[in-house]
Amino acid sequence: MASYIEPAPIKDKENPFESMMSRFDLAAQILGLDDATYNVLKTPMKQVIVSLPITMDDGAVKVFEGYRVIHSNILGPAKGGIRFDMDVNINEVKALAAWMTWKCAVVDIPYGGAKGGVTCNPRAMSAGEIERLMRAYTTAMLDIFGPDKDIPAPDMGTGPREMAWLMDEFSKAHGTTINAVVTGKPLVLGGSLGRVEATGRGVMVSAFAAMEKMKINPYGATCAVQGFGNVGSISAKLLHERGVKVVAISDISGAYYNENGIDITAALAYRDLNKGTLEGFKDAEKISNEDLLTLEVDVLVPAAKEDVITVENAPRIRAKLIVEGANGPTSAKADAILRDKGIMAVPDILANAGGVTVSYFEWVQNRLGYKWGLDRVNRRCDRIMKDAFEKVYTTAEKHNQSMRIGAYIVSIDKVAQTYQLRGRF
Ligand code: GLU
Repeated sequence: MASYIEPAPIKDKENPFESMMSRFDLAAQILGLDDATYNVLKTPMKQVIVSLPITMDDGAVKVFEGYRVIHSNILGPAKGGIRFDMDVNINEVKALAAWMTWKCAVVDIPYGGAKGGVTCNPRAMSAGEIERLMRAYTTAMLDIFGPDKDIPAPDMGTGPREMAWLMDEFSKAHGTTINAVVTGKPLVLGGSLGRVEATGRGVMVSAFAAMEKMKINPYGATCAVQGFGNVGSISAKLLHERGVKVVAISDISGAYYNENGIDITAALAYRDLNKGTLEGFKDAEKISNEDLLTLEVDVLVPAAKEDVITVENAPRIRAKLIVEGANGPTSAKADAILRDKGIMAVPDILANAGGVTVSYFEWVQNRLGYKWGLDRVNRRCDRIMKDAFEKVYTTAEKHNQSMRIGAYIVSIDKVAQTYQLRGRF
């Protein structure tokens, strides 16, 4: 029986943790953060790395590497998704965990920040292999996870199905069903109505709030969406339903452009009948992913992964507004270029916070043993997103900074104040 080790991840081009830190440094400087608080907030509280030996379908044993980083639990139990992707590495997970801290603070929900992941390619694995991997990962994290300690959720490469396995494994180990240990579960297991759509919905609400500030009429405004997974496809659908003309979409098979607008409902139906990809989608011209990013549109929604808007392509970006559905799609070095060009960027920690906001509602419902209707979920999520947008916008204006730095100022200020009031050894 063969036994082999998953190859070490290669990607670390613009170290995402350093990218996060350079924005953190600027906001900390503007806030006049003292050295002690600065040093505490920049360092993740806990970093766990585990090895996960899994029997593959062919009988071979493959050893995967799993991570969970808790950046902070100052505001409450740590919260953040689990990513299954080949590019997962400790630097990425550290950055994503810190972003969760700032994200929860921006939308003012009582959570700290965490992130987890396994370096693997779920597209090349069977459902059984993914299930064994998720259960092994959960078992390895039994001491870390808990409804009052650290609450995972879906991220790239995972969804409700994986959260069900996590909930089941954790519950079995504790001898009782504990559904509040994880969010993003299927509805029948205590998931919340509206959770699947929540991140895309938050992107749509942020895009509308920003268009209002920029005096862009959303009816007929043009938009390009990079990525057609959960966040990208739902953002595109909700924008399309509200009269925005989505002229380009993309996924791993390439990018698709139609100057008259793409029928997103048709694109979704096509993807769902076509093994999850847009490959061969007819109602549009095929362009490169790079071309999509530099299209002349009103709104660009990067909803795939980190570092897609970089120093190389930022000078060629022609969108008026960027709404970040993904985490970390703009490298720190590209920020200044976008600002000089007068492009407004609604940052990830604000624009994609709808997901964790409805995760919070799911956790509240689980703890109450009660279910909210979709109206209540959406209304409360929209309100939180709009309030957070206003707060960030006002803060950015006050300090004459970008929306991104405004969002960091709002969140770091909240976490720092809480830390100072709680005190230390
Ligand atoms: N993975 C999502 C994010 O990056 C959701 C996290 C959660 O719901 O806890 O915001």
